[in-house]
Amino acid sequence: MNSEKEEQLASKSMLDALTGIYNRKGFYTYTRELIDQHPDIEFCLIYWNIRRFKVVNNMFGWHTGDKILIQLAEAMKKELKDEVATYGRMERDNFICCVPSKVISKGKWMKVGEVSYSVGDLEYHFSCCYGLYKITNPGLSISEMGDKARIAMETVKSNYMCSYAWFDEGMWNSLLEEQKLSSDFRSAIAQKQFKVYYQPVCRAEDGKVTSAEALVRWKHPERGLISPGIFIPLFEKNGFISILDRYVWNDVCKMLRSRLDQGQEVVPISINVSRVEFYNNHLCEDIRNIVKSYQLPMDLIRIEITETAYSDNPMQVQEAVNKLHEYGFVVLMDDFGSGYSSLNILKDLPIDVLKIDMKFLDGFETSQKSAIILETVIRMAKWMQLRVVAEGVEDRKEWDYLKSMECDLVQGFYFYRPMPEEEFLKLLDQKEEEELPVHQDEFTELENSMADALRMDNYQDNSVFYSMLGGMGVYEMTDDRLEVIQVNRGYYETIYHSADGFKTAFGALNREVKEPERSILMEKCRLAREKKEVQQAQIHFQREDGVYVWLNVKVRYLSSKGKRALFNFSIENIDEMKKLEEEKVLSDYSAALMKVFDKVYRLDYETGIGEVLHTNGNDYMQLHHAYYFKDFFERYGEFIEWVDCEPSSEIIRDKGLLDQKLAQSANGSYSVKYKAHVGEKKTQLITALFFKIETQSGKEEYLCCIKRTDIAE
Ligand code: C2E
Ligand code: CA
Repeated sequence: MNSEKEEQLASKSMLDALTGIYNRKGFYTYTRELIDQHPDIEFCLIYWNIRRFKVVNNMFGWHTGDKILIQLAEAMKKELKDEVATYGRMERDNFICCVPSKVISKGKWMKVGEVSYSVGDLEYHFSCCYGLYKITNPGLSISEMGDKARIAMETVKSNYMCSYAWFDEGMWNSLLEEQKLSSDFRSAIAQKQFKVYYQPVCRAEDGKVTSAEALVRWKHPERGLISPGIFIPLFEKNGFISILDRYVWNDVCKMLRSRLDQGQEVVPISINVSRVEFYNNHLCEDIRNIVKSYQLPMDLIRIEITETAYSDNPMQVQEAVNKLHEYGFVVLMDDFGSGYSSLNILKDLPIDVLKIDMKFLDGFETSQKSAIILETVIRMAKWMQLRVVAEGVEDRKEWDYLKSMECDLVQGFYFYRPMPEEEFLKLLDQKEEEELPVHQDEFTELENSMADALRMDNYQDNSVFYSMLGGMGVYEMTDDRLEVIQVNRGYYETIYHSADGFKTAFGALNREVKEPERSILMEKCRLAREKKEVQQAQIHFQREDGVYVWLNVKVRYLSSKGKRALFNFSIENIDEMKKLEEEKVLSDYSAALMKVFDKVYRLDYETGIGEVLHTNGNDYMQLHHAYYFKDFFERYGEFIEWVDCEPSSEIIRDKGLLDQKLAQSANGSYSVKYKAHVGEKKTQLITALFFKIETQSGKEEYLCCIKRTDIAE
């Protein structure tokens, strides 16, 4: 477009002010012209939408969002500049173009939607989803054609496995059906066609019912029972969901109230809160007011929030969770693991229960990876004092496995299918007769814990825990086992002076602590638990590469569940301190020897260096002077005369031979005597005593003590 044309277009408001490409009106007008002018070309419409654009805006602000839109428009311009094509922005993050079908088959068009954006050093990638419509009937209005492409796009909008779909007439029909259901909604509410079903949640240990989830069904007069999978997404789009949700919550409260009034058994019921509810500022008050209006204790109602609600709207969800807690509700994270921010959620969101759907772990028995994910999540949840409900448990095998993982709660067809209210009430009545434990069992407080501290200190590479200076981790102790189950980056830095080993997912380590540290540390852990006080121990730790390091380990008791107890530990490398300590021991030792001797040497057999540890200063070898001792007697052989003993140079040079002598002697020492002719007419009688001591770290130090006496020739 030349600038004159641009001005003309702008004046007729055909251009999008932000990106400079056509707006909806411009696109409709010029696409009509394009198609009419090229009756010989078969065209297609592509409608696209940036996935999770709202998240972009939330994360980086509108300004960044705008930049990304401009970037996309530029990419489109570049890609299509040589084609017989039109393109424009319909609204927000929705773009459209009309291109000859052959452009589609080239496949390059999808690249246009791959946007990346840099913030600092990080590059974020965004992808689009597309709807395609082949223009088989050029007689339709462009707006109708655009609708068809958009409908196709909508079918893949929330399907991350598939980025585009071609329009087909079936889509049109389901749209009509959706419209029909929408128009039936009001009368359905008025006629109470929506029925609340209840699916019991059971204790994993023994399968006993501890609570239940309310799940809505639509008893449609013409179509029979419709599952929520069909109408919930629709009502989320058109906003009816908030009416439906409140209807369900009221129904649940009504049921509970009536049971309580009749003195019958109740269990807590969890209700689902749609992700779109979080756009409503009164959500928490609405729930509270409904529960209050039935004069129910807040802990009888639990709130399920789906993970995707959080990815859409992190701030609002976080605020809501805090508020719900304040009001006394237990909050469950539904569909945990379905989104990609799962682990971040744990860090930021103070939820109480995780619900993991077994369907996200398809084939968990066969796939080791799924089993590891499940185990890690359950384990992490335990540390954080979160309960775990495994949903969708369909057979005995799954149940057994979950039990072995010490998963707390289970829900699924294997135990009970969602059932109509009457049936559920019968079940509760039976429960009452059996006098089974009531719901308090499910959420009894764990022992005094560090849950809050851990909550912010967990798993994520970028979390406080992981970036915390200093080495930290968590021990898990059972009757006879102590395992390091998680560590942070500082753990590696402390032990290896490098974080290279910190590669495993979430720092999961699962390393069993072996003797000799095991006994020491287990004892400390027991004490920490008993006294509820931090305990510490110094251990001489052998690294994987065989090198020993001295560590000061502090352990703090966190909590216990079943036979497992958790401890938070921190480590400090005390090699330097130990070295100084040992030096001090040696130094004290040799100071004592000086009462008898004139000089004390430490002999390092590895390097062959003898170092003066103490001296009375009667010769030129001063404190810390070092010399090569192994060939001493060879070097000065001509001045040395052995007295009352065998020539000993060989023995002194060779640690093995010296050790033999030390072992043979009654007092663990080896002594030699020699005359040294040290100057003209000056001779000294020298007694040298060799022995070794063992330092605290188990290292052997060889000492040589010298006594000199001047003798007359
Ligand atoms: P959800 O919250 O994840 O609920 C669990 C779904 O799993 C239910 O589907 C339940 O019937 C099904 N289920 C339970 N055990 C098993 C099993 O062992 N195997 C299999 N294959 N499925 C199992 P349902 O009732 O069709 O509900 C679907 C979704 O609709 C729910 O997923 C929830 O997100 C939504 N929903 C249901 N009722 C309500 C409601 O009152 N309000 C809102 N906002 N959403 C609702
Ligand atoms: Ca749910």
